[in-house]
Amino acid sequence: MSVRQATLERLASFPNVTMTQGIPLSRCTRFGIGGPAEVYFETSDESSFAALLAAVRESGTNYVVIGGGTNLIVADEGFEGIVLRFTASAIDRSGQIVRARAGAELQALVDFSIEQGLKGLETMTGIPGSVGGAIYGNAGAYGHSIDERVRLVRFFDGGRVRRFTNAECEFRYRESIFKKHKDWIVFEAELAMDIAPVEELRASAEKIFAIRLEKYPLTMKCAGSIFKNLLLAELSEGVRAQVPERVIREGKVPSAYFLEQIGAKGMRIGDIRVADYHANLIYNEGGGSARQLCELIADLKERVRVHFGLELEEEVQYVGFTPGGARRPSPILL
Ligand SMILES: Cc1cc2nc3c(=O)[nH]c(=O)nc-3n(C[C@H](O)[C@H](O)[C@H](O)COP(=O)(O)OP(=O)(O)OC[C@H]3O[C@@H](n4cnc5c(N)ncnc54)[C@H](O)[C@@H]3O)c2cc1C
Repeated sequence: MSVRQATLERLASFPNVTMTQGIPLSRCTRFGIGGPAEVYFETSDESSFAALLAAVRESGTNYVVIGGGTNLIVADEGFEGIVLRFTASAIDRSGQIVRARAGAELQALVDFSIEQGLKGLETMTGIPGSVGGAIYGNAGAYGHSIDERVRLVRFFDGGRVRRFTNAECEFRYRESIFKKHKDWIVFEAELAMDIAPVEELRASAEKIFAIRLEKYPLTMKCAGSIFKNLLLAELSEGVRAQVPERVIREGKVPSAYFLEQIGAKGMRIGDIRVADYHANLIYNEGGGSARQLCELIADLKERVRVHFGLELEEEVQYVGFTPGGARRPSPILL
């Protein structure tokens, strides 16, 4: 549903809010893909964000909340409705507890912790995006994810601000309760850290960063891994029997293994291509579209389904598509 003029005027009257109409969402996504947002609001003011979100919901207008746009596929047609972004980015420390606002870059949080001699996030160095996005998707790498450190999450449920303990966040591999309640917006996370020498933490982060840079050059237009890895325990007997022991890591089978077997590496549609060196990495060489990206994803899923009887699940999130995402890349609802 298009944004009504009366709604627009009401929303624009909230303090400390920036409003833009028709901004190309390709500018807000790492893929560099996505049509215009009918209206885009940004604020670092928590009360204004809460008032905005409550008013948007009351108006019945379609909306979506984005963070750094590093894990998004946005439709070529854009988003008919309101795109919201919470940009507060303060990070502070009290003893071994670090508090980060959701709009902070995850890397800023990692760097802050390292420089403070606080251990626990250094393996997450190089994961782009915001703290809010990281909590939403329980981001992680090298055998660790952010949930291991989260003590409390403060969020807005559309009516009031609430606090959830780690257990209440229902974290699992690349999952959290916020994925099930897309209208609950993370404002802040509190993380419990250990003490360690700064030099040790720096060395560990630098090593990881160097490896990551080879895989994900800074200018690469992508979303990291397109598909989630698979938990071995959740695979059927038939699929498990086809997986060699050597590819299993920390109880997971990389999606890349299945994708490699169906010849994904190097596949392309226009400027959208699968990396030659990593079957679960799709990137935009420059002129790719969401339609091409969705077609390639659908093709890969179909091949894995036919070959292994297995359904790959996207880690990446869709904006501006009807439910069903890649299978039906027509606009516009979230
Ligand atoms: C090069 C590259 C490498 C990557 N490597 C990794 C990796 O190693 N490990 C990993 O886990 N991920 C990785 N990713 C994926 C991505 O960085 C993470 O998913 C990141 O946490 C997304 O954060 P974001 O702020 O960009 O969120 P966005 O992409 O903007 O949004 C993702 C989802 O989060 C939701 N969201 C954003 N902010 C909030 C909020 N405040 N409250 C509630 N929901 C919110 C959005 O609604 C959306 O559904 C990589 C991506 C790239 C481009």
